[in-house]
Amino acid sequence: QKNHDCPLDKDELGRNTWSFLHTMAAYFPEKPSIKQQTDMKSLINIFSNFYPCEYCASDLRTDMKDYPPDTSGQKELSLWFCKIHNKVNKKLGKPEFDCDKVDERWKDGWKDGSCG
Ligand code: FAD
Repeated sequence: QKNHDCPLDKDELGRNTWSFLHTMAAYFPEKPSIKQQTDMKSLINIFSNFYPCEYCASDLRTDMKDYPPDTSGQKELSLWFCKIHNKVNKKLGKPEFDCDKVDERWKDGWKDGSCG
């Protein structure tokens, strides 16, 4: 039987982290204050300095230079994380996720009701 209380490997860490990031974006205000926007930018910047996979974090910082975080509202931030995640998907040869569906995946549940 597998012991689940073990340190995370790169893929487990990635899945758990994306779950947090996309869910955080799903609950970001639709009309954030200036402070909420600057705080979110700081969080993302600091995150990109400490994400515990050195080359993942380094690529993320490069991607963020070309495509800085859009913290103007929930939809925009969710789309930004979706596109950033797609850059990683592409790099790893994984299929791109349809960003029109990001709120169904992380916020509202699928339109077919399969999330209850
Ligand atoms: P994941 O990519 O972890 O996705 C989890 C779920 O998110 C999917 O099942 C799907 O439902 C949903 N999803 C997929 N794409 C999107 C999207 N674009 N928008 C919204 N939802 C989506 N791994 C490496 O090997 N090299 C790297 O350089 C690397 N960089 C990373 C950088 C960051 C910031 C993070 C958080 C992770 C990184 N990873 C990297 C890990 C990698 O992205 C995956 O998490 C890991 O390979 C496990 O993949 P997975 O197929 O289980 O699904």
